[in-house]
Amino acid sequence: MKKTSLTVKVLSGLVLGAIVGLLINLFAPGAFENLNTYLFVPLGQIFLSLIKMLVVPLVLFSIILGTTGLGDPAKLGRIGFKTIAYFLVTTTIAILIGLGLAAVIKPGLAGDFDLENASFEVEEAPAVAETLLNIIPANPLAAMTEGNMLQIIVFAVFVGLALTALGEKTRGVVKLIEQGNEIMMYLVGLVMKFAPYGTFGLIATAVGSQGFSAMKAMGSYMVVILAALLIHAAFTYGGTIAFLAKKNPIWFFKKFAPAMTVAFSTSSSTATLPVSMEVAQRDLGVPKPISSFVQPLGATINMDGTAIMQGVATMFIAQAYGVDLTAIELATVVLTAVLASIGTAGVPGVGLIMLAMVLGSVNLPVAGIGLVIGIDRLLDMTRTAINISGDAACAVYVAETEGKRVLKTEEVEA
Ligand code: ASP
Repeated sequence: MKKTSLTVKVLSGLVLGAIVGLLINLFAPGAFENLNTYLFVPLGQIFLSLIKMLVVPLVLFSIILGTTGLGDPAKLGRIGFKTIAYFLVTTTIAILIGLGLAAVIKPGLAGDFDLENASFEVEEAPAVAETLLNIIPANPLAAMTEGNMLQIIVFAVFVGLALTALGEKTRGVVKLIEQGNEIMMYLVGLVMKFAPYGTFGLIATAVGSQGFSAMKAMGSYMVVILAALLIHAAFTYGGTIAFLAKKNPIWFFKKFAPAMTVAFSTSSSTATLPVSMEVAQRDLGVPKPISSFVQPLGATINMDGTAIMQGVATMFIAQAYGVDLTAIELATVVLTAVLASIGTAGVPGVGLIMLAMVLGSVNLPVAGIGLVIGIDRLLDMTRTAINISGDAACAVYVAETEGKRVLKTEEVEA
């Protein structure tokens, strides 16, 4: 009952923020700057900082506990393999849906785009190979202060393995980490009380600064991405829940909606992580060890929504510039987009920076990003909601197939 009212409040914040943002954009654009600086941005920023404050300790504690909770390394290996295989397969499906829809609807031919003036400053995209090689943290404390999620995950898995091996000897440490985790989860609940106001501010900023005009010009591009996201959620995740986990997809989306709302307003998988884990454990009945292992990993490397955007954007840019991609080039796009979405950090806007890598792989002009950047913030919100749903669908699937879901639910509630 209490939860429902929070969901309603967050949704109200979201809708109200969108309405206020749009009204100001349409009727009082002059007032936007002041309202944005003194009201919307502070509200959004306070909320974002509050949840980000919890992410590093939460990921550290929960992955350590997840690893110890899964027990023997063989089981950890099996679950790890299952999780990563699921992530790779669904991300590939996501790109194929994006490419397919864009090939059929051809959003890049829907208007005259200003190719002459399109430009994009290539910010330094973290090279995927480098990210993957860097996953072993030479300095775990530095990894934590920098918020390097992959490195934190690797360190936490090592500590978890050691705690499992040492058993009785380190029981006290496990207890301590469990209590640390409790503290973080309690704080997540507390911070969520501010979510409706934060959501209001974040959405008002996003909608108020972009308005309708940006959306109109790019209408068909947006429609293709939104349709691809919807298809992916309905079929890939719906299918996962129905056929792999043998649960009702509607139940899944209904229960997971509050986390999707937070992802939508923050545009950050990482920042949403505390909330999505709480929802998965409490409302979807995913046992703590599985949720603690699958979701932080997913928030870091599994970005299906981002992959969809990258597939559609690549097609869109190719069409706008009049380039026909060959079959080999399309395969290259699929491969690089999988890698790019793995390398994309779960924070706002990075997916677009990584798009430079995908375009580069098939010699499309990186300046084409300039065409889609105007409306990216709005799409970022939607794709982030899909990104974290993929992690949760995987967690439910792993939980069901590992046959521990019911068993551990009581423990989670206790
Ligand atoms: N904002 C996305 C996320 O955090 C990443 C991106 O596509 O930019 O999941």
